[in-house]
Amino acid sequence: MMYHGIYNLSNSDTGYTGGNVDKDGYNRTKESFINDLEFYYQKGYRMVRLEDYVNGIIDVPLGYSPIVLTFDDGLKNNINILGKDEEGKLIIDENSAVGILEQFKKKYPDYNVTATFFINGGLFNQPEYNIEIIKWLVENGYDIGNHTYSHYNMEKLTIDETKKEIGRLYNFLKEIIPNKYVKIVALPFGTPYSLDHPNRPFILNGEYEGIKYNTISTLRVGYESELSPFSKNFDKTYIKRIRAYDNNGNDFDIEYNFKKLDNNRYVSDGNKHTITIKEEDLEYVNEIYADKVITY
Ligand SMILES: [Zn+2]
Repeated sequence: MMYHGIYNLSNSDTGYTGGNVDKDGYNRTKESFINDLEFYYQKGYRMVRLEDYVNGIIDVPLGYSPIVLTFDDGLKNNINILGKDEEGKLIIDENSAVGILEQFKKKYPDYNVTATFFINGGLFNQPEYNIEIIKWLVENGYDIGNHTYSHYNMEKLTIDETKKEIGRLYNFLKEIIPNKYVKIVALPFGTPYSLDHPNRPFILNGEYEGIKYNTISTLRVGYESELSPFSKNFDKTYIKRIRAYDNNGNDFDIEYNFKKLDNNRYVSDGNKHTITIKEEDLEYVNEIYADKVITY
């Protein structure tokens, strides 16, 4: 699921469809975000870390399905800090995305609440708290990824500019949370759109200021759910996301996508070391997972 901002608004406060805060639904109301989380839970989805999904570690109970949350842009309303308590701990605004996720953590301990936040050079746009926020997130079950330093259209950059945009942000994360950030890039505006674009190899591998980086996955903008990581057609370097927005069940909105998933979704066999699949579907499994497969 691809989210951006979560605004402390009710759906009736905006002039847009459902819980959208802008025309295209990149930003959502608090009310709709709470409803989304409740909806996924009741539908039998349980959260997994993006990095685990990419690496084929699907640890959800028997009969349940995995879901991954991502947030782009490092907006203040992703984790708004109100100050610090007497012990010096961050006070997180209950109306910001993480504040809401933390409430779900308490409400449904079996939800395995987690999310990956893709940030730019402004981090979480709270200079006095940015560093502490990032450390708090990785210590509390969330992940941080790379959304490039300046959020430029990656099709319009030179190769050197591409390396700077990717490497500079990785170097930031390396300094703040060494070895604890995910080597995943959410592509700004989904650019470059083509796998053949000359900048693409330098999003995956490169060097900036003498420090090498490698990226295991890049994330696109929209428009539907991605395949099982065990599918032979799964390309972990170029992953689709569902844009979490409302459009009356049209154009790949939440309702549209989950209706589609009702007929064909990944259901866990309850064992993260095995893949249970119908005999006739065996041909779809990537052969690197052959020793994990159980057929029926
Ligand atoms: Zn963005």
